[in-house]
Amino acid sequence: MTMATVADTDVTVVCNPATGEEVGRALRHGADEAAEAVARARAAFPAWWETPAARRGELLHEAASAVLAARDELSLQLTLEQGKPLREARIEITRFVHTLEHYAGLAKNLRGAYVPNLDVRAHGLVLKRPLGVVVAIVPWNFPTTLLGNKLGPALVCGNVVVAKPAETTPLTTLRIAEIMREHGLPEVLFQAVTGKGSVLGEALVTDPHVAKVAFTGSTPVGKHVAELAARGVKRVTLELGGSDPMLVLDDADVDGAVSAASVGRFFNCGQACLAIKRLYLQEAIADEFVKKLTAKVQRLKVGAGTAEGTTIGPLHSEEQRATLEDQVDSTLEGGGELLLGGKRPDGDEYSSGWFFEPTLILEPPHDSKLATEEVFGPALPIWRIGSLEEGIERANTSEFGLGSSVWTRDLTAATVAAEKLEAGYTWINSAQIIYDELPFGGFGESGVGKEHGIEALDHYQEAKAVVVRQSPR
Ligand code: NAP
Ligand code: MG
Repeated sequence: MTMATVADTDVTVVCNPATGEEVGRALRHGADEAAEAVARARAAFPAWWETPAARRGELLHEAASAVLAARDELSLQLTLEQGKPLREARIEITRFVHTLEHYAGLAKNLRGAYVPNLDVRAHGLVLKRPLGVVVAIVPWNFPTTLLGNKLGPALVCGNVVVAKPAETTPLTTLRIAEIMREHGLPEVLFQAVTGKGSVLGEALVTDPHVAKVAFTGSTPVGKHVAELAARGVKRVTLELGGSDPMLVLDDADVDGAVSAASVGRFFNCGQACLAIKRLYLQEAIADEFVKKLTAKVQRLKVGAGTAEGTTIGPLHSEEQRATLEDQVDSTLEGGGELLLGGKRPDGDEYSSGWFFEPTLILEPPHDSKLATEEVFGPALPIWRIGSLEEGIERANTSEFGLGSSVWTRDLTAATVAAEKLEAGYTWINSAQIIYDELPFGGFGESGVGKEHGIEALDHYQEAKAVVVRQSPR
């Protein structure tokens, strides 16, 4: 089917969030194409399962290297459809490749278990088998890294993947699938299918031949996907929303923490699941911290992702900006001091994109939207706390539990925070850097299951018990 022969309703026009201009088109596939993609994947599964694990790793490595070689082209494509600064797009493509490399390296270390002396003349084996067809559903904020988190472990374990990118960011994913196909990965092991979540996404999740759904996105959609998957008793991992707290204690390295707060909140225009979304400062350093942070954030440069010097791009869509504006406005109606931003930037260069100024608000009410909802944009609420204990209590009021950080030189305080913060990740004197080596995944409403680490492998394999009994000789 060529572009010229399909009706407009069958095509998604992808627009640049900085200008509103068209940057490409993607087919809007539905239930039929979902079933076809799953059937193709299913047919390819037995041979991939039988492929030696080391060979799977080699092929993944080859494909990842080809993606790295195309980094400039892919970064530009990502900036044009997503909005992030080019520098951040390069980081994202690099991270995608590193994650694939990480799992390619683990291919030779897949392990089951041997259980001796189960019984007289009997031992046990724990086999680890791939699941089959895995559906990966990915949001628009990090279209490629969030794909890589699923693709790497799924493929090395012997599964085949059908991925659905967000409707507004399909282009980089389609190009990556093409590159990987041309370099290493046989065609049907990784298919990218484009279309709407409510149509194509649901068709993939409910297809009886899909064994597992790996979903990243919002908490409401994640719950819905989990319900649909449960009807078919499918395996599910959910990486959902977050409202990460950052606690800075009186004895902290203030300058280091200020830099981390600025990057942690405003990277990707604040549209990160593990962005710093609530800042708690202990009294003695609070004024100094706020002054330094305000000065630093003031120097951030809002602009198009492709423009020289831009450090904050536009929000991804009109809807995202409208949600953020409602959260900021309604919070300020209830109280709090606006330190910076709170509005769209002035100037012609901002007139047709979804821009918003980086925003700092001091002491908003604890029941305001900025405190209780996930804020997916460049606005940071700040509160003073009297003690570590108060900070932990405040931090743990959220229904989310993705990441968290504590800044202190006191080993005991850091240890207490690491144990008591209700979050899947706690950074001590560091923040928001995800390592392929460590398991990542939320508590509470932030999700189920882990990505990254060797832990992710367990979510793409089924353990099978075998009892081996020797016949009498
Ligand atoms: P979303 O609406 O939940 O969409 C995520 C993905 O699900 C998209 O591909 C979407 O497709 C698809 N989808 C929508 N409805 C579906 C359905 N009924 N069945 C199957 N799939 C469906 O999330 P978003 O607003 O795009 O992304 C932002 C959210 O993702 C934030 O809450 C953020 O915290 C979360 N997030 C979490 C992590 C993490 O690792 N924990 C990482 C990044 C983002 P369409 O785009 O076509 O609708
Ligand atoms: Mg959505």
